[in-house]
Amino acid sequence: MSASDKLKALKGNYTLLAVALPQIVAVMEAAESHCIDCGPCNGGVTPPEDGSPCWSCGHIRAALAALDEQLGDSGSTSPPEGATPLTFADLAMVNLSRARRWHPGFPDDDDWNGADWSNAMCGETGEAANVVKKLRRMETGHEGTRPLDETVLHKALADELADVVIYADLLAAKYGLDLGIAVIAKFNEVSERQEFPERLAVSA
Ligand SMILES: [Mg+2]
Repeated sequence: MSASDKLKALKGNYTLLAVALPQIVAVMEAAESHCIDCGPCNGGVTPPEDGSPCWSCGHIRAALAALDEQLGDSGSTSPPEGATPLTFADLAMVNLSRARRWHPGFPDDDDWNGADWSNAMCGETGEAANVVKKLRRMETGHEGTRPLDETVLHKALADELADVVIYADLLAAKYGLDLGIAVIAKFNEVSERQEFPERLAVSA
């Protein structure tokens, strides 16, 4: 697949774009100073003698300029309405990429062991429970002297639950497990045991 086709494949896929952008920017920065030997982008193309960017580097520049225009001044990378919903596979891919920024070599490194990742996940479940404790105080009329805001607490609970899932995915990765496959298998196992009709299927 050519560099141009790869860039086209990123269109609308903000998860993949987030992973690919650092590499694209690195190539772009190299192309800023001189048209590189094109090894990183298209393999063995001789740079034009007049100093203009080669075909691939030129397309990368154009793609990045279009990206700048799309993001505007906000720099937002939020997916637009109608974007593809998150999947466990999306989470696993981006989560792995980001975890390696803090823990190079993850999941095969010795920086954090399984107990460290498990502890981190459990810490987040505790934080979620603490938010629910405050929600229960509101629900039961025991707010005390400090007023609580339900909207703020709901946002806080969403944040903590997200942390739990993110760490659960990393803990699974540490042991070479796929969280999405694990959830499907366990959900269906319990449904079958209880003779309930609800089942999860692997998406195409
Ligand atoms: Mg947290």
